[in-house]
Amino acid sequence: MRYVSTRKQAPEVSFPEAFANGLAPDGGLYVPAEIPDLSPDLVSGDPEPYPALAVEVLSLFDNDHEASEVFKLADRSYSNFSDMATAPLRQLDENLFVLELFHGPTLSFKDFGLQLVGNLFEDQIRKTQDPINVLGATSGDTGSAAIHGLAGKEGVNVFVLYPKGRISEWQERQMTCTEAKNIYPIPIDGTFDDAQRLVKDLFGDEEFRSQVRLSAINSINLARVLAQSVYYLHAFMQLPADRSDNVEFVVPTGNFGNVFAGWLASEMGVPCNKFVVATNQNDILYNFFNTGVYKQGKVSPSFAPSMDIQVASNFERFLYFSQDGDGEAVRKMMQQVRETGNLEIPNFDRGAFRATRTSDPEILENIKMVHEKYDYIVDPHTACGFQDIDPEANTVILATADPAKFPDVIERATGIRPKHPALEQLREKRQVRYDLEPTDEAVKAFMLLNGTM
Ligand SMILES: *Cc1c(COP(=O)(O)O)cnc(C)c1O
Repeated sequence: MRYVSTRKQAPEVSFPEAFANGLAPDGGLYVPAEIPDLSPDLVSGDPEPYPALAVEVLSLFDNDHEASEVFKLADRSYSNFSDMATAPLRQLDENLFVLELFHGPTLSFKDFGLQLVGNLFEDQIRKTQDPINVLGATSGDTGSAAIHGLAGKEGVNVFVLYPKGRISEWQERQMTCTEAKNIYPIPIDGTFDDAQRLVKDLFGDEEFRSQVRLSAINSINLARVLAQSVYYLHAFMQLPADRSDNVEFVVPTGNFGNVFAGWLASEMGVPCNKFVVATNQNDILYNFFNTGVYKQGKVSPSFAPSMDIQVASNFERFLYFSQDGDGEAVRKMMQQVRETGNLEIPNFDRGAFRATRTSDPEILENIKMVHEKYDYIVDPHTACGFQDIDPEANTVILATADPAKFPDVIERATGIRPKHPALEQLREKRQVRYDLEPTDEAVKAFMLLNGTM
């Protein structure tokens, strides 16, 4: 499989090259040059073991690794999940299902992408013999999942910036209590945007970037998207045969990575009628799918913080396919977004998508309703998936995090304070973190001192 840039002004590359590059040289994102057809193998009511399914799907997108290597990568990435099914489908009602994506090491769906990314970095380092330094900014789940994908691996040190006092205690402990020598969690005074800006500055500094062989873990990483397509197939295969038509996947959405992975799975043949883009009060994508107008505003902090975004970084991949691969059209649109913060698509066809929006009070109501009606607890992100469900459809809601990661909101909604043994054991561990001044110079000096060279 070859990969092309959404802006079509960069050479086609292989999967390992696309993975190593991150962003294409023309500023675009890599997408597969064609989408493979899986439909002959798809049967509902007959799930395959998750790692085997992951091998089948990933081999279609990566024919540069040997089949046995893909097997090792998938097996290593998904064998440490705590549920036998890796991504179990729970039935709440006749036509209502929840796909639990929170049984990985950091209890959010981000583990599906970042466990694989960690193993791919390890493979790259082993082959090139070049150590790397990974740098990222996080508002919580991404940083902890990336850290757990890379902790203890040879030839890579990981530096994660986060806004001090603005992530949850559990999210912080997941990053600071790993006891791994190659992990550097860095709290900074400021917001997530400040942390993000520092990271962007350092990636923009060519000299520093090559000096420390800087690598990224951000949400545009191609391997993350492909890894996430697998669980849509797995969900379909777990559906009872008489519930496998008129399927709607409901996806709590921020950066549009997860729902884009689902759309890709449907293009591969997973029968699905609709994708529901479930947003919180940061409703830029809700507005877009209802009006065709994409208008950036200010981030407003909500009970579902991992969906608090105003720039949906994977959106460019969707634009590329919606414009039938017209790189020039994508370039113009992205330029317009950059210059004005807005985009308007005339005669916009929303295709297989519909969108919902859930306010903070509605998040609490939905958690309470699900608990009372189904005796099941959902986290605040997943709660957005329960908004405006189509009663006629067979609905699969993606549960993106374990409720125990957000005990305060759950307690407020239900009176119950959820716990998880993987989190409780972090209480005992020593926290290691490195307070730095929020300046380019301070972070650079720290990385030059502590990076692997
Ligand atoms: C990251 C995240 C989301 C949003 O996913 P995107 O791929 O950015 O759309 C939703 N829920 C949780 C718990 C997350 O960590």
